[in-house]
Amino acid sequence: MSEFDLIKRYFTKKPSSKIELGVGDDCALFALPEGERLAVSTDLLIAGTHFFDDTDPMDLGHKSLAVNLSDLAAMGARPIGCTLAVALPYVDEAWIAAFAQGFFDLASVHQCDLIGGDTTKGPLSVCVTVFGTVPSDQALRRDKAQIGDDIWISNAVGEARAGLEWLRHNVQLLHPEEAVSRLQRPTPRVELGLALRGLAHAAIDVSDGLLGDLGHILECSQVGATLRLEDIPVSPLLMELPQEQQQQFILSGGDDYELCFTVPKEHREAIETIGQSLSLSLSCIGTIENEGLQLLRNGQSISFSGHSFDHFL
Ligand code: ADP
Ligand code: MG
Repeated sequence: MSEFDLIKRYFTKKPSSKIELGVGDDCALFALPEGERLAVSTDLLIAGTHFFDDTDPMDLGHKSLAVNLSDLAAMGARPIGCTLAVALPYVDEAWIAAFAQGFFDLASVHQCDLIGGDTTKGPLSVCVTVFGTVPSDQALRRDKAQIGDDIWISNAVGEARAGLEWLRHNVQLLHPEEAVSRLQRPTPRVELGLALRGLAHAAIDVSDGLLGDLGHILECSQVGATLRLEDIPVSPLLMELPQEQQQQFILSGGDDYELCFTVPKEHREAIETIGQSLSLSLSCIGTIENEGLQLLRNGQSISFSGHSFDHFL
């Protein structure tokens, strides 16, 4: 099968009306709503580094888009479209069809049209770029946290790490398939990001670990924080792990793609209402302070040495 047949068969879908020109020309074309900014993000996933070679192709299609949509969510942006660059070692049509299905199933949930890309032969890797829009004064930037803000986290973190360590035979879990699913099929919190517009000061998606990712907000905003460990939810999937390991997965496990965000205290009720309307648990876990990062458990200071994921450490 030629490169062009492959693109036509598996990666060409008629885009929605918001896209002027999609796959098939030298570039795609789309217009931005008046007064909005283009939000752009890209993520590269390489076999052996970001996923196991034998990862289910449908899961990989889902995840390669999900991690990008998560970046739009963390910016408060609404998805418009995306591009997909893939390198494939050889043409395995069943694999490509499953990958495309995982990709397009998630794309259609978020009305994120595939509008272009590149297809080439090489070691298996997938690079997705997403485009979204956000009113310029409502983007949830990392550098806008303010002293006194509450710090919130969606759902629970640490589950994906538990799934990864189970796949590596490092831990035992009662429900490994749920933890692995959190790793392989993360849910981008796009609706939450949109709902936080005008309420949250700053947001980030937890891809590398809660402490490390919150640390990016603190650094960019030049502030500090106190976290109350007893208020950070412990997922039922982690319950049977030793407490120290639970804490490590929660504080520095990555790949959960939950949102960590800071909101002025007067919006507490509004945030709780959003959680109810999205059926998504939202927990207030700390406060933005002047400087430093303090971890408290029931008022007692805790030291923690684990750092978050970094490819070059
Ligand atoms: P060019 O050589 O002009 O870059 P290509 O031959 O690489 O164009 O691609 C032809 C068309 O197919 C372009 O519109 C490109 O965006 C699209 N395309 C290529 N690969 C993919 C893919 N994996 N997913 C979606 N669109 C793709
Ligand atoms: Mg090309």
